[in-house]
Amino acid sequence: MSIPVPRDELEDTRRAQLIEVTIDSLADVGYVGTTLAQIARRADVSPGLVAHYFGDKDGLLEAAFRTLSRGIATRVRAKLALAGTPRERVQAVIDVNLAPEEFDRRTGTAWLAFWGQVLHVEGLKRVQAAYQRRMLSNLRNDLRSMIPGAEARSLAAMIAAMIDGVWLRAALSQWQEADSGAARSLLTAFVDGRLRDLAQPHGAPAAPAPRSAHATPAAGAADSGSYRASGTITVVNPATGAVLEELAVDGAAQIDAAVEEASAAQKRWAALTGAERGRVLQRAAQLLRARNTELAELETRNTGKPIQETVAVDVLSGADCLEYYAGIAAGIAGEHIDLGPKAFGYTRREPLGVVAGIGAWNYPLQIACWKSAPALACGNAMIFKPAELTPLTALELERVFAEAGLPDGLFQVVQGRAETGRLLTRHRGIRKISLTGEVGTGKAVMADAAATLKQVTLELGGKSPLIVFEDAKLDNAVAGALLGNFYSAGEVCSNGTRVFVHRSIRAAFIERLRARAAAMRVGDPLDPRTQVGALISAGHMEKVLGFIARGRAQGARLITGGHRVTEGELGRGCFVAPTVFDHCHDDMDIVRREIFGPVMSVLEFADEDEVIARANATEFGLAAGVFTNDLARAHRVIAQLQAGTCWINHYNITPIELPFGGVKMSGLGRENGRAALEHYTQLKSVYVALGDVESPY
Ligand code: NDP
Repeated sequence: MSIPVPRDELEDTRRAQLIEVTIDSLADVGYVGTTLAQIARRADVSPGLVAHYFGDKDGLLEAAFRTLSRGIATRVRAKLALAGTPRERVQAVIDVNLAPEEFDRRTGTAWLAFWGQVLHVEGLKRVQAAYQRRMLSNLRNDLRSMIPGAEARSLAAMIAAMIDGVWLRAALSQWQEADSGAARSLLTAFVDGRLRDLAQPHGAPAAPAPRSAHATPAAGAADSGSYRASGTITVVNPATGAVLEELAVDGAAQIDAAVEEASAAQKRWAALTGAERGRVLQRAAQLLRARNTELAELETRNTGKPIQETVAVDVLSGADCLEYYAGIAAGIAGEHIDLGPKAFGYTRREPLGVVAGIGAWNYPLQIACWKSAPALACGNAMIFKPAELTPLTALELERVFAEAGLPDGLFQVVQGRAETGRLLTRHRGIRKISLTGEVGTGKAVMADAAATLKQVTLELGGKSPLIVFEDAKLDNAVAGALLGNFYSAGEVCSNGTRVFVHRSIRAAFIERLRARAAAMRVGDPLDPRTQVGALISAGHMEKVLGFIARGRAQGARLITGGHRVTEGELGRGCFVAPTVFDHCHDDMDIVRREIFGPVMSVLEFADEDEVIARANATEFGLAAGVFTNDLARAHRVIAQLQAGTCWINHYNITPIELPFGGVKMSGLGRENGRAALEHYTQLKSVYVALGDVESPY
């Protein structure tokens, strides 16, 4: 018995065959000779079938061009994955684009046929633009870790031009002058020479030292901070101490150049329809999904978070966000206002212009998506600065956008520390800042933004309450408390770290909590069985351990955890066991201050009014949760809690459709949902008179 081949698969195979026949035809008889009827004859199918799959000749050629261009992209990606240093990655792009098979007569002639038509056929123009952007963005990103941004841009453009030039020369000589090896050596020598020249005035090394897979920080545990060198950021895996990457810091000149490019690109982007912008975001969402495993691994290496989380949440929630705003983009609109028979009004919802996103280190890719998707959907350009500790996946997002067809300059990643962030917040050309970070950073950003009256959205810290009433389903409440404290090793802003449990069920709650928390598996973040990975840095781990010590000293009772985990290889990283304190009081440090680590404080309460008052007795107001079977009580309590994001009988679920953000010192504005559109657009009111102008003058 044979398993029937699914219909979709058959169609895909048939399409692929027709595309191959088209490439053959282009090589044999050129663009003019390649017709639908020709292809049908060669493939021995009816012309109607070819038209069914591809529409017309342009559609067929576009599909063939896309196949060739995708082939190169796949080969580049495979080679990039093997490359160790940025210089090797640049070489990978050169090697693949000038590989012997690109000089092969069949594909080469097909390419030439496409190039000849690119200026005249819209579909081909799109594919060619995406191909160019992808190559430039790959080159630029890697060059930027060796030389300053402006030089990286120009060298990337030069390399791309040389690749095209060498190839064109070979094609025009009918492949007589096609020497792939010589072309690659020549270009390699040119790149090395330029890097050497450019390195001189800036003091940056021409070719940075290769990554050391086993470098360990002096302190014996990973600490990205200890690797700081003037002008560069050294990115470290906090689980092992290994150096992942060395990146150049962007300064004032680079920020100015980025703003200038963004500003020009934004005007063209804003002139597109929402549906056109949405299509690009939709393609980016698909690309993110397709690269989920690879990007999740990169996120895990850079953040120390378990792969079982990053593969399920970090990349995919970013893709969900892009998809959500892709869908919404076409529906962004103002409103019509009736002003009686002689006039009406309407509002236009217009983009702000160039906006900036500044990210925290706990959800690097997700934060970059949460900020860029609504910004781009609304017609803005975004310059994004990731946290210095976790700068890698934002660069991948930049590549994904380029591949999806986002025009150059609309999403640019700049690298650096607070000083680079300040260059953005103080820049005249930037109209809005969206920050995710600590309360202190939020205040500094707001103060800096005031000088140019920028809009700000601030997603800041929290010390959120999670209230468990006596009638709650206990296992659900325990699960909620575990999710709300130990996911991402507790490095989640909305965590419910103050767990208020009703007096009558406290003992039972603690018992179940202890058993489940103690059984959590701390380990190598890349091991799919690991549930708790590494903290972000040695410095942060020391801070968390300091809180634990103070909790003990101030009289809280340790139920489980409370120590660093150093068994075997874990000793090289920043691992802390999930920690639960019982018998906590409202005035203890661990109860008042944001720890941002795997530390839960359990507090006892007796009645509803009391717990509401205590839950609200904090300067923060990011999130809150209530577990109870009495839904009337749930809504009553939630209505009185001072928090921007609340859960009833769950915790820390953040669907993209629901606005997310804080009140009080936890922030301003909202991300996600339709609410975010308010923060990335401005209203223009228009009065339209339908009659004569009456004037007393
Ligand atoms: P920080 O506030 O230290 O940093 C956030 C970002 O701001 C980083 O990119 C940082 O650069 C940059 N930055 C720092 N100072 C300035 C400045 N003066 N001007 C402009 N930019 C600046 O936060 P963390 O990265 O340590 O992240 C943890 C914090 O983020 C926690 O408080 C957490 O609660 C909060 N957070 C809030 C979320 C929310 O949605 N409400 C979600 C996630 C985290 P660099 O680090 O490179 O120096």
